[in-house]
Amino acid sequence: MKIYMNGQLVPERAAKVSVFDHGLLYGDGVFEGIRSYNGRVFMLEAHIDRLYRSAKAIDLTIPLSREGLTRAVVRTCKANRTLNGYIRLIVTRGVGSLGLNPYTCKTPQVIIISGAIQLYPPKLYEEGLSIITVGTLRNHTEAVNPKIKSLNYLNNILAKIEAINAGCMEAIMLNPQGFVAEATGDNVFAVRGKVLITPPPWCGTLDGITRNVVMQLASDRGFEAVEDVLTRYDLYTADEVFLTGTAAEVIPVVKIDRRTIGSGKPGAVTRQLAQAFHRFATTHGTPIR
Ligand code: PMP
Repeated sequence: MKIYMNGQLVPERAAKVSVFDHGLLYGDGVFEGIRSYNGRVFMLEAHIDRLYRSAKAIDLTIPLSREGLTRAVVRTCKANRTLNGYIRLIVTRGVGSLGLNPYTCKTPQVIIISGAIQLYPPKLYEEGLSIITVGTLRNHTEAVNPKIKSLNYLNNILAKIEAINAGCMEAIMLNPQGFVAEATGDNVFAVRGKVLITPPPWCGTLDGITRNVVMQLASDRGFEAVEDVLTRYDLYTADEVFLTGTAAEVIPVVKIDRRTIGSGKPGAVTRQLAQAFHRFATTHGTPIR
């Protein structure tokens, strides 16, 4: 496998970062997780835009133009023949001194890894996930804004630890006001009749790209897809609940906190949107040439 590092494709074993990189020392950096399907990179422009917004929010200047970075992603996929896979685009603050001050880091590092994707087991798409709400709150939006896709995922990891220790693969995180924010690596939707509700970013969610595509596909199909505040009550009493994310795509949730959601089986709306998403994702994107 070839890894893109600062303008060059290098063999995997040569792809090393310094122990003084603030990405390692402090989780100071930003990233994107992107998919390719059938030789096309899905929603590449949206991912590049979000990466630049995340970088801007942490006052990190990406040392490449958007066009240059787009070309670098395609070039890495081509080199690794990542025609159906996963791409991790990372920009770290770079090497600096052993203090927090990010301005001691003079050269941000741009890294692109492209390879295989690890999804939930297929069985879970058929049967649905059992998940829990956890005690670890989502970061306050005025502390670390969850719109920033940063290299510091400890908030999510603490919630994931709670989920795994309770025998679940995912957790729903609440925000400091007690409203539903998102799952540790996915956005959450509740379905009520023909209405789909997902929390607005100010509730502590990443502005998910899969989420936004699903909202568009849903409204094209006669659903009303809205951003609104959700409580645990709204999840427990929803007809259907599902999660969305680049790696997960659309996955049904059938139990939350051991309570049965809807019929206890993946619902018709979730199934319809999962299919629509898969069709859309496998037919759109930036060609890998
Ligand atoms: N929330 C979090 C915390 C995430 O890390 C992700 C991405 N894995 C998502 C939501 C889903 O966002 P996207 O659809 O853009 O992958």
